Amino acid sequence: HNVRPKFEFIDRARTEPDKYPIEVRRHEFREIYEPFDINAGANQSERCIACGNPYCQWKCPVHNYIPDWLKLAAEGRIIEAAELAHRTNSLPEICGRICPQDRLCEGACTLNFGYGAVTIGAVERHIVDTAFAEGWRPDLSGVTPTGRKVAVIGAGPAGLACADILARNGIEAVVYDRHPEIGGLLSFGIPEFKLEQRIIQTRRGILEGMGIRFVLDTEVGKDVSFESIIDEHDAIFLGLGTYSALDGRLPGLDTPGTHKALDYLIGNTRSLLEMPAGDYPFIDLSGKRVVVLGGGDTAMDCVRTAIRQGASEVHCLYRRDRENMPGSPSEVKNAIEEGVSFHFNIQPLAIEANKDGSLAGVRLVETELGEPDESGRRRPEPVEGSERVFEADAVVIAFGFNASPAPWFDDFDIEVNDWGLVKASEQGPYPFQTTNPKVFAAGDMVRGADLVVTAIADARKAAQGIADLLTAEAVAEPIAKIAG
Ligand code: FAD
Ligand code: SF4
Repeated sequence: HNVRPKFEFIDRARTEPDKYPIEVRRHEFREIYEPFDINAGANQSERCIACGNPYCQWKCPVHNYIPDWLKLAAEGRIIEAAELAHRTNSLPEICGRICPQDRLCEGACTLNFGYGAVTIGAVERHIVDTAFAEGWRPDLSGVTPTGRKVAVIGAGPAGLACADILARNGIEAVVYDRHPEIGGLLSFGIPEFKLEQRIIQTRRGILEGMGIRFVLDTEVGKDVSFESIIDEHDAIFLGLGTYSALDGRLPGLDTPGTHKALDYLIGNTRSLLEMPAGDYPFIDLSGKRVVVLGGGDTAMDCVRTAIRQGASEVHCLYRRDRENMPGSPSEVKNAIEEGVSFHFNIQPLAIEANKDGSLAGVRLVETELGEPDESGRRRPEPVEGSERVFEADAVVIAFGFNASPAPWFDDFDIEVNDWGLVKASEQGPYPFQTTNPKVFAAGDMVRGADLVVTAIADARKAAQGIADLLTAEAVAEPIAKIAG
């Protein structure tokens, strides 16, 4: 059925969308990639050879129908491509921008062997942005309302994906979040140079158009009780994320000028969006020598934010080498282009203060890689005699996140495991049901800090589980009435 030429990839190189000039990137918080135009989108899509066994699709956590929507994009059938993209993914325009494609679909593409993967992420973004610009919206005209109502707590990618699938099943979804805007880490973690707020606003409009209601600036357990929510809804979905910042237990963490990554990023975003600072005051690193500790996505977002704030120097200290960094390689490349200095094989030991209590810098020791640990990554070991202080005016700690179970979980029989992650399995009749049968959970709070696309994948299954549970109850109720 596939009539497109099969060998475009030989003569036609992989191209990525152009990036804005470095000088613009170093100062502005807008997305760094220009969009593909319709020709570039089609041209790159035509490189796909429509593999019989599409590795890209299998590697994608939501199993996007990648070769199929590439074919539609190659033929200019953008609206159909957008329809298809939404069959498997609730936020494709967002995944097109911030998924680590080099580790997922593009990393698995057959054409990597000598030709360069199809530019899948950029085409995904192109398809959905173009369809939105042309006025396409999801069509729910065939959906029959069930009269059932579900509370979704957390408006991050997990909560939004769950609400999307509930709406498509005729279930009313009311989404609560403590932040003044939807998106969770999409809005308040990931900076605008990766994902602009206007993209989230467009998605908010679409979700509201589907009948989803948002109750924002409302923390469950503080502004409204979980008990009242559970009483007023047929089921609950929790997508609360993980927010206990790891600090490596470094001595001197309370030294002024030492900041937690998310406090820094959220304060910056709230200031840019002209929102009240709330618990996240703006941290201005302009003119400062900044050291960021860590090597993941969060660390990359901090170093690149500091560059844009006008820091005089930005250094990233990481304990393994470049090949073993958890952050996406393309993000590391972007950071280097923008002027970040990377220092590999460095173990921080303490935050050092001057005699007057002000910040001196980071005490560190150089490391070399030893034997692989349980995760298969080689364990860093200290190099004798290499200990010194790396001077800094500000230090940002970006070591990652642990679970942050809510204090009210116990009262409602919502069990957590030894790491504080909520127990909710994909297996069983109702995927991602917690130990309280009326409560479902997914995203980072179940699998630990991970990715946007895995949160979406799990939350969509959870939503289907909720829909199945409510259908089973609806069938059981009349039977019970007859029997009773
Ligand atoms: P979250 O996005 O954390 O959303 C949880 C929501 O629940 C939040 O809005 C929170 O306010 C709300 N909430 C919590 N408790 C309550 C309560 N009691 N009442 C009301 N609301 C509550 N992943 C990628 O794929 N690509 C990236 O480039 C990337 N970059 C990242 C950069 C940073 C700085 C960080 C921190 C993470 C990054 N990630 C990235 C990971 C990704 O953002 C998360 O895996 C994903 O957002 C998890 O989704 P979630 O819905 O489970 O949780
Ligand atoms: Fe196309 Fe690459 Fe997927 Fe094969 S692996 S179907 S070439 S995108």
